[in-house]
Amino acid sequence: MAATILVVEDEPAIQELIKLNLEQAGYRILQAFNAQQASAMVRAELPHLVILDWILPGQPGIEFGRGLRGDKRTVSIPIIMLSARAAEQDKLAAFEMGADDYVTKPFSPRELSARIGVLLRNAAPQLSDTAVEYRGLRIDPVRRRVIGSGLSLNLNPTEFRLLHFMMTHRNRVYSRAQLLDKVWGDHVYVEERTVDVHIRRLRKALAQSGHEHLIETVRGSGYRFSA
Ligand code: CA
Repeated sequence: MAATILVVEDEPAIQELIKLNLEQAGYRILQAFNAQQASAMVRAELPHLVILDWILPGQPGIEFGRGLRGDKRTVSIPIIMLSARAAEQDKLAAFEMGADDYVTKPFSPRELSARIGVLLRNAAPQLSDTAVEYRGLRIDPVRRRVIGSGLSLNLNPTEFRLLHFMMTHRNRVYSRAQLLDKVWGDHVYVEERTVDVHIRRLRKALAQSGHEHLIETVRGSGYRFSA
């Protein structure tokens, strides 16, 4: 499950440098050369992280970032500001806008990649390849296997993603709409009761090893993986 990163940068050489390095690190890259293009891309597909150049033709990067923070759909996307402006007041302005990190040009692509790793681990742990285990239930994203009390459980790809998301976000309640966004993907038009169907099937699969109770129904709100 590769994370998608939107790079908003008007200099083609820097775009290519970032793309090359981040693709090597396993990320999927979307390129926008100005804020207008970036807006259209975000409308079509929600990236997992945005790298944002400050000085762009047309709308400045910082204003585009402010727009992302002001919209419910995009408010929690991690933003890394990229800028030749190294003054403290510029960094403060970026953090005030809601940027999560600030990288000064010229930058080391490896350092950029490391910073991305940190932000994504916090913001989207379901994109990590690390196996997760809880009370005898283990999910391994690399081998795509679920083991419950030593027993191999059969899950279809959607139920697998659903379980992985819930196990990496324990003890939090998610509404059906939120689960659709996070598991099925943003802008996918699926009815909310589809979630109920998959939860039911997931519980049935987990019942083979007695783990079905870990998925709790929270009345009037949605579902929670217990902690
Ligand atoms: Ca620029």
